[in-house]
Amino acid sequence: PGTLYIVATPIGNLADITQRAIEVLTQVDIIACEDTRHTGKLLSAFSIKNKTLSMHDHNERQRQDQMASMLQEGKSIALVSDAGTPLISDPGFHLVRHCRSLGLSVSPVPGACAAISALSVAGLPTDRFSFEGFLPSKSGARQTTLSALKHEERTMVFYDAPRRAIDTLKDIVETLGSARYVVIARELTKTFETIHSDTAENFVSWLEQDANQLKGEMVLIIEGHKNDASEIPPQVIKTLTLLLAEMK
Ligand code: SAM
Repeated sequence: PGTLYIVATPIGNLADITQRAIEVLTQVDIIACEDTRHTGKLLSAFSIKNKTLSMHDHNERQRQDQMASMLQEGKSIALVSDAGTPLISDPGFHLVRHCRSLGLSVSPVPGACAAISALSVAGLPTDRFSFEGFLPSKSGARQTTLSALKHEERTMVFYDAPRRAIDTLKDIVETLGSARYVVIARELTKTFETIHSDTAENFVSWLEQDANQLKGEMVLIIEGHKNDASEIPPQVIKTLTLLLAEMK
């Protein structure tokens, strides 16, 4: 059987394509992509002439049987998304699960991913982090999502739209507190790349002063919850104080 290659593509700067991505996209029998026109532009930028097949959220389940048969016939397939690493807030999960369950070979061709790129420059702890995908676009649902993460200690990574950034930051102030530290990585690898960090409260006024910050694409990173002494329950403090007194 052939191999299904999961191929990462650039998130804004075409020079971030990898040598192996070019090789694989050139050599496979077919390229499955979210949007054939979008991927067509990428392919022509690298003079890659190959067939494309659309596979998006709405036809992924139908396509998976078709693609599995092609792989079983010995054909190789590359899956790409519009930008970055497929399956990361992008289609492909059902296809990969299906192919793996049939024992077909699935192989990664790694490269750009907006979440990991943002994390690598945020200056927040990276030893453990939680990727939370897209924040809901409506404030009520967004506040529910954020509230549920109030005590999450790991660094949290979200995808969100810059045009909603002010509303999102206000929701962070509301649910996680004004002092929570936030980093926004916007337009990564592109001309207007901006990485800004501040407390949630200061962030709101910074965004309100510069409409340009509400354009393009962004990754939102929120510092994890810090356990401070004031949050230790009084009963625990009392017990510890007694213990300490015993030790003297
Ligand atoms: N699979 C992609 C990846 O590996 O990053 C993510 C796809 S998701 C549909 C698109 C979201 O990724 C955008 O809404 C934005 O939050 C983020 N994103 C993509 N490119 C970006 C960039 N150049 N700078 C900042 N965020 C970006």
